[in-house]
Amino acid sequence: MELRETKIKAPSKISKYVNIIISIAIYMALSISLKDVAEDRILIILGREISLQTFRGVITQLQMLISVYLVLTENKPGYIVSVILNIYNTIMAILFMNNIKSPTALPGVISYVGVLSIITLIIFYKEKMTDYITEIVNQKKTLEESEIKLHRMAFYDLLTDLPNKELFINRLEQNIYLAKRNGSLIGVMFIDLDSFKSVNDTLGHSAGDTVLKTVAKRLENCLRKGDTVSRLSGDEFLVQISNIEKIEDMQKVSTKIMDIFKKPFHVQNIEFVITASSGVAVYPVDGEEPETLIKNADIAMYSVKGKGKNQCVYCSTKIKNDVVKKLKMKNHLYRALDNHELFIRYQPQVKADTKEIIGFEALLRWNNSEYGIVSPNVFIPLAETTGMIIPIGLWVFKTVCEQCREIFQKDYRISINLSLEQLKDENFIKNISKILEDTNAIASNIQIEITENIAFNEEPYVLQRITELKNLGITIAIDDFGTGYSSFSRLKTFPIDLIKIDMEFIQGLSQNTHKEKEIVKSMIRLAKNLGIDVLAEGVETEEQYAFLRDEMCDEIQGFYFYKPMILEDIKSILYNQTN
Ligand code: C2E
Ligand code: CA
Ligand code: CA
Repeated sequence: MELRETKIKAPSKISKYVNIIISIAIYMALSISLKDVAEDRILIILGREISLQTFRGVITQLQMLISVYLVLTENKPGYIVSVILNIYNTIMAILFMNNIKSPTALPGVISYVGVLSIITLIIFYKEKMTDYITEIVNQKKTLEESEIKLHRMAFYDLLTDLPNKELFINRLEQNIYLAKRNGSLIGVMFIDLDSFKSVNDTLGHSAGDTVLKTVAKRLENCLRKGDTVSRLSGDEFLVQISNIEKIEDMQKVSTKIMDIFKKPFHVQNIEFVITASSGVAVYPVDGEEPETLIKNADIAMYSVKGKGKNQCVYCSTKIKNDVVKKLKMKNHLYRALDNHELFIRYQPQVKADTKEIIGFEALLRWNNSEYGIVSPNVFIPLAETTGMIIPIGLWVFKTVCEQCREIFQKDYRISINLSLEQLKDENFIKNISKILEDTNAIASNIQIEITENIAFNEEPYVLQRITELKNLGITIAIDDFGTGYSSFSRLKTFPIDLIKIDMEFIQGLSQNTHKEKEIVKSMIRLAKNLGIDVLAEGVETEEQYAFLRDEMCDEIQGFYFYKPMILEDIKSILYNQTN
């Protein structure tokens, strides 16, 4: 089909004013018809005798009609023309009266002046009406605009312009309805960016926003028209892929989606890579309702976070069961304190050169009737997510202070592990001071262990609480050193007394590779240069110990010397050491 451009001609000036021109012509013709007519003439019109007075009246009425017509149809130009014509006629009528020295034309003059006021009134009200109409039209426009805005706010994410959760669920409901009829599958993918917080923290929030917008664009571009991508909140995205026949097709799409993170991001002239963890739930296997599908995709995504991130995992029975198990365990943990199921083991730490015990690390244990002895690696994260870590952490601190009264007297150091959640607690320092006071513990013999990630956390409360702990006399150790995120400037300014090299590096020493040894050596050198003591964790062999001792590592902790033990065993070891 050929499309031709058609031009609509603008009306020419003459045709535009044709009404006015015709009206002027009629108006003038009517005026001329009266010109020089003797005062006492009787006119014969259509075979009837009509007096000049009557004829003049009829003409004036017709001219009035033309004036009103012009104002109504031609607005301003019509008004100007009528005013000129009526003034002209008024003057002519006055001159006529003057000529014939008779007031016969006086009603005509009054009529013309009357017409002038009527048309002035008409134009005035017409303009007012136009103003009102423009105002109404404008108000309607703003109303429509705000309606569109409200709709966007209700159903779209303002930052990325993607549909929000509400609209996502709406569309998912419709797709489920269709899938029920044609037996197809729907995939719901939950995507969470890995360590997005560090982008915000290091490059600023506007850089973070740029990354989110770029992710949104890339996701949109790799999907088909009927699929929806939505931003849930922060760095979480949801994707629904409908009309899928086999699970293999779904896997191809999810791989394509994960591939968008392989391309680097560019912000503020910096190039960097951001990975993502994602989970997929498939309709109808993993749920038949939008909320269930989203929840199961979230669970699958969460399982990726625990497995090193940067992967896509499909929801499975095992994943779902694990969640149920965790939930059950959480319920047990809530009662652990009241049921006296928690206890502490102490692992000695020795001086590298003399092998003499100088301190202990307090390590928490949970003995539950159903699960047996549970590793802190399992239950501490649960306690952290439920807030249970606050009372549990205080219990640890208090129990250590009570149990170690004798040990403190002999000037041994006791280390206690601390979670970030505990530092967030506003009452933390107040509670710790009270325990120290109540138990008469010697603060300078207590050491707090925090991981690198806590120490280098930029939140102001972290440094504040740590400084307050130091002011109480407590010393600070950086735990699991080398595994987290650290900066040299922070190392210099943060009040650190001991660096604990993570076990991972010590076990690496046994592989006898040059690289592992160099890493440990440089960690020891770094600590020495900063004037901080250094301890090696997880020392299990003579060979590891010998290497560390030769490299001037100050302290050793590990199964090679001692395993974590109950207090009674510690006491007898100390008794033997002093005797
Ligand atoms: P962590 O602070 O790094 O504690 C050292 C862990 O290494 C302990 O595990 C200890 O038993 C183990 N270990 C010590 N020497 C060796 C060795 O030579 N070889 C091997 N393979 N392992 C060794 P544990 O007791 O299971 O504690 C695990 C983690 O749980 C701790 O890691 C710590 O992060 C956390 N944790 C323990 N107690 C507490 C506590 O009271 N509060 C908090 N917030 N966390 C705690
Ligand atoms: Ca520790
Ligand atoms: Ca450690």
